[in-house]
Amino acid sequence: MSEALERVIAEQQKEIDRLRLMEKNNADRWQHENKSVERMALAAFSVLNHPESPECHFELKQAVMAMGFCPRCEWRPCECECQYDD
Ligand SMILES: [Zn+2]
Repeated sequence: MSEALERVIAEQQKEIDRLRLMEKNNADRWQHENKSVERMALAAFSVLNHPESPECHFELKQAVMAMGFCPRCEWRPCECECQYDD
């Protein structure tokens, strides 16, 4: 095999590895986002079923914050640059 061809193959393999990694990261992100939505939905239903429970309200707030929403300005990502920004 010529050196030029080997170089081309090596470069293509690198590109394939890069795309595979990107796909895996996307899948991980999607799974994480999906879990966050489920957690928030569960917490929301708890609040609907127990509107008087501070624990349910707390868990809903935690779940919304875990998704990256700011409890102060209510944006994702935070737009008020408060201490919740991350
Ligand atoms: Zn904010």
